[in-house]
Amino acid sequence: MTVKEQIQSLRKELREHNYNYYVLDNPTIDDFEFDMKLKQLQELEAQHPELFDPNSPTLRVGGEVTKNFETVVHEHRMYSLDNSYSREDLLDWEKRIKKIVDGPVEFVCELKYDGASISLTYENGKLLRAVTRGDGTQGDDVTTNIKTIKSVPLQLKNDFPEKFDIRGEIVLPFEGFQKMNEERLAAGEEPYRNPRNTASGSLKLQDSAEVAKRPLECLLYSLKGTNLGITSQFDSLEKARRMGFKVPDAARLAKSIEEVLEFVKYWDIHRHDLPYETDGVVIKVNNLLQQEELGYTSKAPRWAMAYKFKAEQVSTRLNEITYQVGRTGAITPVANLEPVELAGTTVKRASLHNADQIEKLDVRVGDEVYVEKGGEIIPKIIAVDLSKRPPNSQPTQYITHCPECQTELVRQEGDAKHYCPNDNGCNPQIIGRIQHFISRKAMDIEGLGGETVALLVNEGLISNYSDLYTLTKDVVLPLERMAEKSADNLIKGIQASKQIPFERVLFALGIRYVGETVAKKLAKHYKSIDAIIAATTEDLVSVDEIGNRIAESVVEFFASESNKTIINKLKNYGIQLEISAEKLANQTDKLKGLSIVVSGVFHTVSRNELKKLIEDNGGKVSSSISSKTNFLVAGDNMGPSKLAKAQTLQIPIISEEDFLFRLK
Ligand code: AMP
Ligand code: ZN
Repeated sequence: MTVKEQIQSLRKELREHNYNYYVLDNPTIDDFEFDMKLKQLQELEAQHPELFDPNSPTLRVGGEVTKNFETVVHEHRMYSLDNSYSREDLLDWEKRIKKIVDGPVEFVCELKYDGASISLTYENGKLLRAVTRGDGTQGDDVTTNIKTIKSVPLQLKNDFPEKFDIRGEIVLPFEGFQKMNEERLAAGEEPYRNPRNTASGSLKLQDSAEVAKRPLECLLYSLKGTNLGITSQFDSLEKARRMGFKVPDAARLAKSIEEVLEFVKYWDIHRHDLPYETDGVVIKVNNLLQQEELGYTSKAPRWAMAYKFKAEQVSTRLNEITYQVGRTGAITPVANLEPVELAGTTVKRASLHNADQIEKLDVRVGDEVYVEKGGEIIPKIIAVDLSKRPPNSQPTQYITHCPECQTELVRQEGDAKHYCPNDNGCNPQIIGRIQHFISRKAMDIEGLGGETVALLVNEGLISNYSDLYTLTKDVVLPLERMAEKSADNLIKGIQASKQIPFERVLFALGIRYVGETVAKKLAKHYKSIDAIIAATTEDLVSVDEIGNRIAESVVEFFASESNKTIINKLKNYGIQLEISAEKLANQTDKLKGLSIVVSGVFHTVSRNELKKLIEDNGGKVSSSISSKTNFLVAGDNMGPSKLAKAQTLQIPIISEEDFLFRLK
């Protein structure tokens, strides 16, 4: 087999595995085997840049950055849908249809997925472009981001029309949404409110590698184009499925409005078993000729109708408002409710978010409140039934002192939340911070769990994370449920964490707003904790992607005497507080202060390696050319618009060879 054939066969094989896994939910090999094959392909592609293919499965991990999304006019307008809410509405709609078309009318019932709509264009079986709905006439080109969604085929299967658009919805399944939020909470960030907004926000992220990390899915429901070889909506779903698209199989044919209503009734209950959110049913006239006859109003097709599920609401009594203290000291008010059934689960608590929310709703203990369960994991209170308010009711007074340590709360300007400032004396904060410190993505201390941390703190054995390194077997053995073996493992795990690299230690410290990514950026830029401690707010904001909020929080953290003491202790215990010498050896300042744009296909190094070289040598990779660009490294097949722009702005263009020579 030639290399070319080998590459092609690997691509084909990996595409098929992607399809089995992401579209059919039915993988036929395990993750390890898949990763090995992917790695093999990556290596071959790196050695043979001349065989580059923009649709290769290796490019699913993203990496391209888009600063400005280009506006694209839709070839076929993306209409909205009319809404209906009752049997009568649907019967009226049917009457209007029968006035225009003759003969029997069949309907296709589909679920209405609640996400961000997308239009994909395919040409000769390859994904050409992905565009958001925008205002319906024109949207944003988000192709680089969409390519990272693994259920979107880059290359179609079986037979396909030469050119067509396919419409669908980008959704974020509940499970993945919840996981993202757990990670955000662990990093001290506000959780996302609901999957829909998070899905649509994802499409407009500048860094496609970030999008690749999000477990988005693309569900498709409609083909647009000419000569598609289909005569009905139901066929078109089947056709799309055969081409390799993820088309949910809930769709049913209905011969009457009564059958449509049965479908609605069934899914109104069973939609809660689906892995993603739906907000209704979409009913479409099945026959495409009839659709054509019916045509469109100014905003929606006459041949389709949305039927909205009733928002899931119940009313119940608010028994008590309690306040939770998080790891960062943030206070969250929680409504404790008289238990009530809602959307298939028993609800006992609802989030009240913050003081403003309480004031806005004017919720009071004893009120009958309406609770709604949308995409949010925790239900929310949307209103108060004032007619049922007890006569002696008093407005809610927000707490002024921490419920755990009685310290007076503070609220900074621009912050929605109140905070307990007693970082080092407030138990949930102390425990939460140590729990964060030992967590998997931070110091990853094996043999030590969250409950043991709470126990250690409550027994007075530790009061901050540096104290972990003073623990000995004798000290922990008397703890509840601690056996010889587990005590050994605990101490071993703690000792092993001294090898964890600096960037993760920095994340582990639990500085507010310093999540994993920010920690990496700071570690890379400053290289040691001492340099970060010495940095001013102005220094910090000059680092790529570090804003004011983060900079201030970093400065504040290291200004604290107690934090300084803890850092010194960590230093003495041998924790990695600088980038290791080995890592540093590959870094220079040769490109310091330079802003560099990379474009095209390269031979000796891959595009990503090139970017890494720039960063390791102190330069900054920028995605678009501006007057601030110092030079452009150009490979083969560079985009014509970039070239033109570089020429207009007189930005020097250098070749891959010249660039690598500079670094010698
Ligand atoms: P609306 O935004 O309420 O006018 O509803 C129209 C939107 O519903 C479309 O733009 C699609 O994004 C979305 N939608 C979700 N599921 C479907 C479906 N099965 N068929 C058509 N549109 C759908
Ligand atoms: Zn407190």
